[in-house]
Amino acid sequence: QVRVRFAPSPTGPLHIGGVRTALFNYLFAKKHNGIFYLRIEDTDQNRYVAGAEDYIVEALNWCGIPFDEGIGKEGKFAPYRQSERKGMYQKYAQQLIDSGWAYYAFDTAETLDAARKEAEGKGETFMYNHATRDNLDNSLNISAEATQQRIANGDAYVIRFKMPVGETLQLTDMVRGDVKFETSLLDDKVLFKSDGMPTYHLANIVDDYLMETSHVIRGEEWLPSLPLHVLLYKALGWEAPEFAHLPLILKPVGNGKLSKRDGDKFGFPVFPLEWNAPDGSTSMGYREEGYLPETVINYLALLGWNPGNDREFFTLEELIQEFDINKVQKGGAKFDPDKIKHINKHYVQQTDNSILAAHFTKVLEEKGITMPMDKVTEIVGLVKERAVFLNELWDLSDYLFVTPTSYDEKAAQKQWKADTGEILTELVTVLQNTTDFSSANTESVTKTWMQEKELGMGKVMPPLRLSLVGAMKGIHVFDIMALLGKEETLNRINKAIN
Ligand code: GLU
Repeated sequence: QVRVRFAPSPTGPLHIGGVRTALFNYLFAKKHNGIFYLRIEDTDQNRYVAGAEDYIVEALNWCGIPFDEGIGKEGKFAPYRQSERKGMYQKYAQQLIDSGWAYYAFDTAETLDAARKEAEGKGETFMYNHATRDNLDNSLNISAEATQQRIANGDAYVIRFKMPVGETLQLTDMVRGDVKFETSLLDDKVLFKSDGMPTYHLANIVDDYLMETSHVIRGEEWLPSLPLHVLLYKALGWEAPEFAHLPLILKPVGNGKLSKRDGDKFGFPVFPLEWNAPDGSTSMGYREEGYLPETVINYLALLGWNPGNDREFFTLEELIQEFDINKVQKGGAKFDPDKIKHINKHYVQQTDNSILAAHFTKVLEEKGITMPMDKVTEIVGLVKERAVFLNELWDLSDYLFVTPTSYDEKAAQKQWKADTGEILTELVTVLQNTTDFSSANTESVTKTWMQEKELGMGKVMPPLRLSLVGAMKGIHVFDIMALLGKEETLNRINKAIN
């Protein structure tokens, strides 16, 4: 059975890259009738950020890619939070020590610092590996008894992986194909600390094994860890899952990796939901900016994957059908803020007016405006054409709810002539005698009157719009009048005249 996981560390809000990783795992799971589970990798207590975990869960739910098993939704491998699994890792670290794949290292921070400085002095980078480990303070250089004695004495230690020397690892990645690593160039990573906590590497491998993970799909930044992980499986006598490393997401301009600052700089969010950091700062989210979850999912799917043609729009169901991990590209995927807007516009237009209206009613309520749902639905249907974002509905329709208190000055200068007041006063009389205030009828009444009076369009329509809207914007004038109703229409024209 396919079992894949999203395994974030709760060190902050979920970046859009994290959501993409979750999405690709989700699509892969659903495509293969498998399980998508959420595991919280919180073994590094120093980097733990309060609220990050809830944020991750809420973000996945908002995107519409919920997990089948995970925190708060226990499944057969619970618990899914590594801090609650603390007791499970030590025996595997011990197993690695016993089999010679790992060793105790007692080096102090000062020793390591000095070694690092010395190497830098020679223009090299220090590595704790086969080249240096013989000269450092670890159990490879002392007897088993002496090692036990030091541990019993309470000496601080870490357990390090003993990276083999001189091996070439030929590994396969579902995205990258064959990848080669020279073990001599890798370091002896810390697996376990004397505070009783495993590091990411050990906990990640143990849990992927215990939770029967079939495929590991994650960001490219983890590719350098692949040889260590594969060797850990081997050392523990376990079959390794298959791996897929997703391409980096690149900033819109230049070649670097997308960062939070790019969002600030180019004016787009990089988080799915607004993030209220513990330090009080806030970062905008896609949700709050008015992006739809359909958009985020659709766009992120295209960051590193395409179906082999230039099709742009996919629902989640369609993505599940079409998605193919073997078609994921190796090269970095540039984040394109215009494209995600283009996709959002598409989904806003596609959304049922009644759904948009339900959303918009809440916005109206916050402003103290109550209006029957059918009318809100009608309004939304008339104004949405130009909306890229949900939260533009208000700006596109505010004049339908609020009587203008001022008039666009430039427009007034241009459109409001000496005889405008007189013409509109006459129009008021005509409209007063009109009972059917439907758009079609007021249009025909007004136009008949204009013909009779030989009034050109320019004399009537622009000032009429200005009176009703306060600016030269908005939907069809007679639709506006129908929505406002007779009383408010006449009230607005009269107000403008006086
Ligand atoms: N906890 C790691 C992270 O924060 C997981 C990496 C992996 O998927 O192996 O991304």
